[in-house]
Amino acid sequence: MDPNTFPSYRGELEYVCQGCGVRYPGDRLYYACPACSGVFLLEDKAFRRLQETPGPVWRKTFDQRRQSSRPDLQGIFRFYELIAPVLEPEDLLYLGEGQTPVVMANSELQGRIDQPLAFKNEGQNPSASFKDRGMACAFSRLQSMLRTGQHDHFLTICASTGDTSASAAMYAAYAGPAILSAVLLPRGKVTPQQLAQPLGSGARVFELPGVFDDCMRVVEYLAEHYPVALLNSKNSWRILGQESYAFEIAQWSGWDVRNTAIFVPIGNAGNISAVLAGFLKLKRLQIITQLPKVIGVQTAHADPIFRYYEQPEASRSYAPVQVKASAAQAAMIGNPVSFPRVKALAKAYQRLAGEQGFQVLRVTEQEIMDSTLLANRFGHIACTQGGECLAGLRAAKALGMIAPRDLAVLASTAHSLKFQNFQNMYFQDRFPEEYRITPRPELINAPQAIAGTPKTGGDSRAFVRETAQQIIAGLGLKPG
Ligand SMILES: *Cc1c(COP(=O)(O)O)cnc(C)c1O
Ligand SMILES: [Zn+2]
Repeated sequence: MDPNTFPSYRGELEYVCQGCGVRYPGDRLYYACPACSGVFLLEDKAFRRLQETPGPVWRKTFDQRRQSSRPDLQGIFRFYELIAPVLEPEDLLYLGEGQTPVVMANSELQGRIDQPLAFKNEGQNPSASFKDRGMACAFSRLQSMLRTGQHDHFLTICASTGDTSASAAMYAAYAGPAILSAVLLPRGKVTPQQLAQPLGSGARVFELPGVFDDCMRVVEYLAEHYPVALLNSKNSWRILGQESYAFEIAQWSGWDVRNTAIFVPIGNAGNISAVLAGFLKLKRLQIITQLPKVIGVQTAHADPIFRYYEQPEASRSYAPVQVKASAAQAAMIGNPVSFPRVKALAKAYQRLAGEQGFQVLRVTEQEIMDSTLLANRFGHIACTQGGECLAGLRAAKALGMIAPRDLAVLASTAHSLKFQNFQNMYFQDRFPEEYRITPRPELINAPQAIAGTPKTGGDSRAFVRETAQQIIAGLGLKPG
């Protein structure tokens, strides 16, 4: 098969309500079920036709596409048939998202944690978080509706803990004047870098009082009453794009994820839904023969999904929580929109992989910060949510959830640079009381100020010598 030929398969996507089970055709945009307000997942009605192709043929096809020089097959759409096989090549937006590196921890860090582990660096996506995977798919869908004349423009809108808005604004800026972007942010609860991103992309930025959950309610109201295109993960096209994360890990593993444990931080629960859905799809197509373990991680300051699964199965009940401040700020969500998706997908997953196949863990703010800084001390670029995953791995080991030889693949969901303010607060011991974080001295670092005044001409030699002396003393250098 020529890897430069665009796939010929076309499916038929349908929205399936996770509340009442009713199905709606995929050719319109739906965010919530008209009958019961439930959230959707998109399913390919023609999936049986994909199942007629044997697993090894799929594996070979995707491996050959690695060689493709087509931009539209470089990113998440390497897995076109499994994502949104209703889009045409001219619809697909590619800004360099997906195919992020998996970086094995060095032997020192693996020794410290006593486990084989790797980070998948989602911060190396174009807007520096995994949100670009879902956005590439959602915007490609909007492009297709512009192409067919179903719409002549879109005003897109989203609530965000910082990364959804950065990503949405970037794709809208690229898509051109037919797609405008407005974003709603909780004031003071996104990092300066995350606020700068949509401003730089030219989006309309609104800062609201409250937390993410408050912004989300306003966005839902706007989407209900006005003709706006919702780009939160309620939009199930985003979930489809984010499934590429699972496909890439499977391909990176040589399509063998038997002894692999995937750690994912949970906020609004879109990403964990996509990871579960993605691996299930691979299993149903026999592209993988066994499912990996999937372990969701929540901070104790925003833990509604942990609380749900902590209860005995027969009598579980779900309740939103009031969030407290968290260093895993991108996951600081008390009422995750995708909870019904998780519930349905986790059930399907556990049916195939056993009870242990999907689990949810809770970690403290102290553990999140210590783990973030520890990872980066060993050459990683973990954001605080990546640190949350490492903290989750340590907790999973303590609870005997994973085997000693399991490879833990941790999601560093964004780039560490977006979350520098938390590192600074740690180094300077300035975390507000509510985080309950006490910095560990061995993880702290600070610049050392050197005294003196730069000189030119004849005095410059004295300046260099005096300055060098301070550095020599600081490093304890001896003449060699
Ligand atoms: C959005 C986000 C999360 C949480 O993902 P959900 O899909 O909302 O569960 C975690 N980390 C980062 C960096 C994010 O931007
Ligand atoms: Zn419904």
